[in-house]
Amino acid sequence: MFKHTDLFLKDFQTIVNIDSSSDHLPGIEKVARFFQKRFSAIGLAADVLFQGNAKVPCLQAVSDHGHGTTGNKDSAKNGREDAAVYDLMFMGHMDTVFPFGEVEKRQFSIQGDKAFGPGVCDMKGGLLVALHVLETLEREGALEKLSVCVAFNGDEETGSTNSKEWIRSTAKKSRNVFVFEPCRPGYRMVSQRKGGGWFHVTATGKEAHAGADPDKGINAVVELANQIVAIDKLNDPDRGTSAQVTVVNGGDKVNIIPNQAVAAVDVRIAQLGEKEKVERFFNTLCDNTILPRAKISVQGQIDRPPMETTQKSLALLDLIIDEGKKIGIDVTSIATGGCSDGNFTAALGTPTIDGMGIVGANSHRQDEYVELSSIPVMVTLISNVCKSLISGKS
Ligand SMILES: [Zn+2]
Repeated sequence: MFKHTDLFLKDFQTIVNIDSSSDHLPGIEKVARFFQKRFSAIGLAADVLFQGNAKVPCLQAVSDHGHGTTGNKDSAKNGREDAAVYDLMFMGHMDTVFPFGEVEKRQFSIQGDKAFGPGVCDMKGGLLVALHVLETLEREGALEKLSVCVAFNGDEETGSTNSKEWIRSTAKKSRNVFVFEPCRPGYRMVSQRKGGGWFHVTATGKEAHAGADPDKGINAVVELANQIVAIDKLNDPDRGTSAQVTVVNGGDKVNIIPNQAVAAVDVRIAQLGEKEKVERFFNTLCDNTILPRAKISVQGQIDRPPMETTQKSLALLDLIIDEGKKIGIDVTSIATGGCSDGNFTAALGTPTIDGMGIVGANSHRQDEYVELSSIPVMVTLISNVCKSLISGKS
């Protein structure tokens, strides 16, 4: 079992106590510099890259040995292998949802088996699992046999707009992706995530005096209300599709027929095939107005594909379950409606398993926590999985 939990906790305190809200780039860079130093110390080529127009700090650490493609016994069978440079991509995000100043209010703290603090679960604990796994492999002389790329971005909580292309291009060069978002209580990893996106539907009508001139008005709220009923029919639990109208605005005064009304819709899909159906539905809403003179316009798209299981991702999960049994834990997996950057990598066909961080819950809330007893378990488990992948190579 992993014997460096004390060092892990010291690192934990250091990085949780750095404010790294998605909109506070200096804090994100500070976290990135912490990891740059540590990954460099074990021989990885580590750099802080500034991605996209917003120049979001992202951490990249790659092994400059191995170069994956040679000597893999399955290179002929696997169509992706030609492009693969890395055996493994370790992925995570350094930003948190909490605003600048949150650390001041509630610093990293420990009570019993739990640790608290901003981003402790989502997902600074997971970043440290990735680091300590690679440090463990280095101590044991196994790191030099593994070709790995660490990619920690700084804008996941705001949709990875600036880092998405870098994530995708790295995943294309990788044979497997491990995402270090929190493991769910009971050692439940994440093998499936829904994809999704947001749509804003605007109905435009014509203002008129509600009492004196109702025939001169076009009621945007009535038009939108009819569209909402149609949108609600998109819900298809059997296919794992949900379309929830979550915010509605329209009208101003009780005696004026409203000329505009807007609805926001949160859409989630479990199957990639649903993307086209959902987008076609919204794109044709403008042709299906109920009131003859009303107009409908729609903004939005499904911008995160679902993370679906494949034969290869299930084989990878089986390997993790086997390694779990060897150290006495029952690993299982779940499907969740929430998205992560694993959605992007899985959609490229790269086997992706998420939830490789330490066990925790209540992400995006003040009472978010992690279970400290899961630290040695997860670091040992993932290290052993890596070693098993290495021995399968030769
Ligand atoms: Zn997260």
